[in-house]
Amino acid sequence: MDQERIRAAVTELLLAVGENPEREGLLETPDRVAKMYAEIFSGLEEDPMDHLKIFHEPQQHGELVLVRDIPLYSVCEHHLIPFIGKVHVAYIPKDGRIIGLSKFARIVKTFASRPQVQERLTAQIADFLYDNMKPYGVAVVAEAEHLCMTMRGIRAAGATTQTSALRGAMRTEAKTRSEVMLLLGGHR
Ligand code: ZN
Repeated sequence: MDQERIRAAVTELLLAVGENPEREGLLETPDRVAKMYAEIFSGLEEDPMDHLKIFHEPQQHGELVLVRDIPLYSVCEHHLIPFIGKVHVAYIPKDGRIIGLSKFARIVKTFASRPQVQERLTAQIADFLYDNMKPYGVAVVAEAEHLCMTMRGIRAAGATTQTSALRGAMRTEAKTRSEVMLLLGGHR
């Protein structure tokens, strides 16, 4: 990531909104923002495959695995401000292929640490797990508050957006789908 270029762009932005980048409070802002962007967009330089260590657990076959409340911090690519919430993931392992539960958080973080839209983020997590773990099915539900909605415009404070992506049996088998969506269904 080009830190120098981010610093220059932030200085330019401050000037453009009519601020004085030379005043004391702003002197180190371009540098801070550059360092912060390296962190919040670190997923651009990260391969989620690095977090996909598949184990074989023959006992774990065809039973639902569900991970709720994975923290979600991402940045809306339309407005470059955060959207924040939770991701819930469910999958049904096939042939005993599983991954460590903590890996879900790492995978979510990798995809979230990029300029994103919530719908695509949800689909990317589902596709990644479905294509690489080859389970019977995957369901991903994300719920998030978008600061671009709540800080401006209608100021719909507290409004959350829910998105879901279903793959395999979660999509094709009505009974499985309704069971999983009931378990994942956002608000408890
Ligand atoms: Zn936005």
